[in-house]
Amino acid sequence: MADVSDDATSICAHCGRAIRAANIALHYAHCSRNLEKCKICGDMIPKRNSDDHFLNTHAQVACSMCHKIMERDMIEIHKGESCPQRVVTCEFCEFPLPAVDLAEHQGVCGNRTELCQLCNRYVRLCERYNHGARCNGIPDNNVGSSRDARARERDEGAGRRPQNDYPKRNILFTVAVTGIAVLVGSILFQRKTEPSDLH
Ligand SMILES: [Zn+2]
Ligand SMILES: [Zn+2]
Ligand SMILES: [Zn+2]
Ligand SMILES: [Zn+2]
Ligand SMILES: [Zn+2]
Repeated sequence: MADVSDDATSICAHCGRAIRAANIALHYAHCSRNLEKCKICGDMIPKRNSDDHFLNTHAQVACSMCHKIMERDMIEIHKGESCPQRVVTCEFCEFPLPAVDLAEHQGVCGNRTELCQLCNRYVRLCERYNHGARCNGIPDNNVGSSRDARARERDEGAGRRPQNDYPKRNILFTVAVTGIAVLVGSILFQRKTEPSDLH
């Protein structure tokens, strides 16, 4: 025992870990009695926990949002990064919606226009960033066609809103649209059910 240096290590034949040579006999006895190698992931698992390890790590579970089946240890990553039903936020109106609907929603939402306060032109929301870098700040007022005059009238109306009202306004708009859809839905539903109520 005294002639074994502290740094010398041996490889445990059971778990494959490097163990200080002074402890290898004791380690091997403990290791081979108590640990076993998971046949799926290769981790060393306490024998009495092998059922728990399987259930918690490798058992197939269904995602609570999209119902896809996968190994349990994948589910958190799936829910956070790849589940089509995970909730994401529209970059234009900041409304939360399922990821699977985002592209279609942003296609419509990003097509709405907003008045650029610098050049007085209507800019599509999806081009707002590019426009901001390019905007020359020259008001589009000297063209003088009747179409531009009408646009200017609208601009002046919109221009009175404080700029920081923007995200709230869009959420209210989305909520209003959703509310109208629900209202229409419930009216149709009532019409359908009313006649049977009378009898
Ligand atoms: Zn070992
Ligand atoms: Zn495993
Ligand atoms: Zn999912
Ligand atoms: Zn949106
Ligand atoms: Zn501009």
